[in-house]
Amino acid sequence: EKITIAIDGYSSTGKSTIAKQLAKALGYIYVDTGAMYRAVTLFAIRNGLVGGKHENIHALVQLLPKIRLKFIYNDDLGFSEMYLNNENVENEIRGLEVSKHVSRVAEIEEVRHMLVDMQKKMGKEKGIVMDGRDIGTVVFPDAELKIFMDASPEKRAYRRYRELLEKGQKVSYDDVLKNVQHRDQIDSSREFSPLKKADDAIAFDNSDMGLKEQFERIYNYTLR
Ligand code: C5P
Repeated sequence: EKITIAIDGYSSTGKSTIAKQLAKALGYIYVDTGAMYRAVTLFAIRNGLVGGKHENIHALVQLLPKIRLKFIYNDDLGFSEMYLNNENVENEIRGLEVSKHVSRVAEIEEVRHMLVDMQKKMGKEKGIVMDGRDIGTVVFPDAELKIFMDASPEKRAYRRYRELLEKGQKVSYDDVLKNVQHRDQIDSSREFSPLKKADDAIAFDNSDMGLKEQFERIYNYTLR
C-alpha cells in the first residue's frame, strides 16, 4: 500500500538526492518544494522586487496571481523540472543569486499559503515523496514516514560547492558556507512555519554516511 513520505531538514543535507532515489525505487512521485520557493524568488528578482536598489519584497504579494508554477517530467533526466510561467527555469533557480534571497521570500506568509496549498493538492493521492522544510509539520502532518535530515554545516557546504562547480557555476566555498548558514538561520527563526523537526520525524544525520548507506537505511523505513 502506498504511503506519503515527508523529507525535511537543513539546507544542502542531500534531501533531494535521497528523495529522488526513493521515489524512483518505489514508483512514487517526487516533489521538490524548494524549487517552488526558488521559482517565486526568481520571479521577484526579475521584477526588481528583491535584490535591487528599490527592493520592495512585500509588493510581491500583489503579483502572486501572475505566477504559474508547473513541474514537467523530463524523460532523459529522469526527474521533473521547474517551469515558471511556461519557461524552464530549472538551472537558473539553483544559482547563488536565487539562493541568497530565497529564505526572505519564503518568510512571507502569503507566499507560503499559496505554495502549501499547491503542495497539499499534489499529495492528495498517496505515493509521493516530498522534500522541504515544513512538509512533516505543515503540508502533510499525517505522513506515514517523516525524515529530518541533518549534517555538519561544513559537510553540507562542501557538497553544495562541489555540485555548483560541476554545473559550471563560479562560486567560492566560503560564499556557499555563508549562504547555507544564513538560510538555516532565517528558516529556523521565521515566525510563520519555521523549520523544525516534527515530533514524530526520524532524526537522520548523514555527516558521515555515503549515498548508498543513506538510501538503504531510509528505504528500510518504508518497509515497516
Ligand atoms: O530545498 P532548497 O534548499 O532548494 O530550498 C530553498 C529555500 O526555500 C530554503 O532555504 C527555504 O528558505 C525555502 N523553503 C521553505 N519551505 C520549503 C522548502 C523550501 O521555506 N518547504
